[in-house]
Amino acid sequence: MDAKSRSPQALSFALFALLLSTLIHQDLAMAQTAVSDTTQTSNSTLTAQQLSDSMKKLDTELLAKYGEAQKVRLSTGLHQVMEFWRPEDGDAAAFESFVRTNFAGDQATLDTMFTRYQRLLEQLDGHMHEMSREFATQQDLDLGPIRPYDEIFGGYDPSAHITDDFFQNKLAFIVLLNFPLTTLEERINEGPKWTRRQWAETRLAERFSKRVPAEVNLAIAKAGGDAGNYIASYNIWMYHLVDDKGQRLFPPKMRLLSHWNLRDEIKADYADTQSGLAKQRTIQQVMERIVTQSIPQAAIDNPQVDWNPFTNDVKPASVQDSDTPAKTDAKITNTPEPDARYATLLKTFRASRMADPYSPTAPTLIDRRFNEDREIPEERLKAMLEDVLTSPLVPQVAKLIQSRLGRPLEPFDIWYAGFRPGSKYSEAELDAAVAKKYPTPEAYQKDIPNLLTKLGFSPDRARYVAGHIIVDPARGSGHAMGAQMRSEKSHLRTRVEKSGMNYKGFNIAVHEMGHNVEQTLSLNDVDYTLLQSVPNTAFTEALAFVFQAQDLSLLGLSSSDARSDAMKTLNDFWGTYEIAGVALVDMAVWHWMYDHPDATPAQLREATIQIAKDTWNRYYAQVFGKKDVVLLAIYSHMIDSFLYLPDYPIGHLIAFQIEEQIKKSGSIGPEFERMTKMGRVTPDLWMENATGKPVSADAILTATAEALKQVGKQ
Ligand SMILES: [Zn+2]
Repeated sequence: MDAKSRSPQALSFALFALLLSTLIHQDLAMAQTAVSDTTQTSNSTLTAQQLSDSMKKLDTELLAKYGEAQKVRLSTGLHQVMEFWRPEDGDAAAFESFVRTNFAGDQATLDTMFTRYQRLLEQLDGHMHEMSREFATQQDLDLGPIRPYDEIFGGYDPSAHITDDFFQNKLAFIVLLNFPLTTLEERINEGPKWTRRQWAETRLAERFSKRVPAEVNLAIAKAGGDAGNYIASYNIWMYHLVDDKGQRLFPPKMRLLSHWNLRDEIKADYADTQSGLAKQRTIQQVMERIVTQSIPQAAIDNPQVDWNPFTNDVKPASVQDSDTPAKTDAKITNTPEPDARYATLLKTFRASRMADPYSPTAPTLIDRRFNEDREIPEERLKAMLEDVLTSPLVPQVAKLIQSRLGRPLEPFDIWYAGFRPGSKYSEAELDAAVAKKYPTPEAYQKDIPNLLTKLGFSPDRARYVAGHIIVDPARGSGHAMGAQMRSEKSHLRTRVEKSGMNYKGFNIAVHEMGHNVEQTLSLNDVDYTLLQSVPNTAFTEALAFVFQAQDLSLLGLSSSDARSDAMKTLNDFWGTYEIAGVALVDMAVWHWMYDHPDATPAQLREATIQIAKDTWNRYYAQVFGKKDVVLLAIYSHMIDSFLYLPDYPIGHLIAFQIEEQIKKSGSIGPEFERMTKMGRVTPDLWMENATGKPVSADAILTATAEALKQVGKQ
């Protein structure tokens, strides 16, 4: 469930990739113009030596003018400007004149500059966001047909060229001359001692920490878009999976997208007592063939062949369940997919690498993900994942699963889904209760102050927050779209059927309302708008889940009991254990690519298989009684999402920490307000302020130990 439109820096990478992929279509012409402009103007005679001479001269001159107190600032600023200055920005004289004019040599001048930038960047972000929201309105809301031009409006990003523009007109250089860029190490080690203003200055400078040429961004967007397309059509026609006797386990027309639908089918098959196990084993076999690329090319997204994934035989389909015309001329063989999976991944790597030289404070994609997007050092994140993977609780939970299944675990049981607590109420009962309360979106809008009061906000504060939220009828299942300037409101998009809201819609609306409340408080109540938002998407999701978990009590129904809480915890723990291994594989594969930049797709395949096996053998083989399993490499994100997977396990850890703190405090409202005012500092600093401890696996492990005791009681 997405909270749309965080601040640009906090954009989840999925969104970022999406944004980039729209850029491909929209901005090709413009980017090409930009490229040729650059070549024309780069014939200037400015050399590194000249720039360096100018810098020395300015250093002496301005130091004499402003005094020793400005020494460090001046030297830092000059270096930062030099790092990004290109011949087309001007010759040595232009560089010198720029610095003399724009260095803020005393506090009052600097304060004015800071305040002005903060105000104007808020206006810029706010209005750009407002425009994007309006442009996407027809697509996002339930307002009738979407015309082709609506899609173009919706895909257009008016802010795509701002960074380029700001370097060109020098607004970015003025920031770099006056406010220091920092490393993650500095933010972690010194950040806790910084003033709030220093934090705001840090975020201001960071906006201009890279100057990636348009053609490089375009290449990254293209690789991301191509990878997305490769993944989006990677379907398996399940009715055409046959066993040795030619039997079909799955129903006609079932078409599952790898890996999401395949994994979810494994989860659903636990409920099928007849052939569930055979189905799960078959899907595991399919997944392994995708990872190892031994899957026949003819079996991918093709209802015209029958495929036995165990023997790898393919034959023309003996039954039809689709209107897709047969590819008459194609000879049906079991020739494997020619490493397209790994060729696609390599292309995203090679495109990402093109940005490295333009990102001096984070010179690899791995650095950019960990040090900029997550702001948790890779080693520390890895250690937290290992805390979960090597926890003595793993074999205990595994034993419990085994006894609930009545059989030894098999590798696909990393997706065990049997800890879901049953509900006291039927879906129909809940639907009726919700529809009566909320026949229209307006009815929900009117009830927000009341809902917030129930969640512990004071009546005053509840009215204040509710006054910043607008409810809109969503076309899809719903989302929350925050504002980026204080004069704008955040939007709660929710789905209301003609017969009124149903329970599922309500459950989602409460989750999205959690996002809206966070968005409102972390924009309007934070002391500097440069610090608006939360450290990363895991935080906003965790806060939204706190709200969502209260949905029944908000309906006046008795909510969960200790046992269902325990089951939910065990479900989350097992999911974290699974995805932690997947994340480690994603991380190791990116390191391997950086270590072997000239690898072939076949070499990357071999390396990935080995990494997946090694990870399995280290953390899973003993629990499952089987070695050398490659399932951890099946996630599609690994191919098209640029090292996004570690966000999932870390999100679980953060959610547990926040939930634990809110439980301890006994009231959601005031805790929520206190936490969200912190704004976008590092995750550890945010968490220290919120809970007294940095981000860690402690909360999830403690809760799991408690849950095991609770379940053992019955
Ligand atoms: Zn969400």
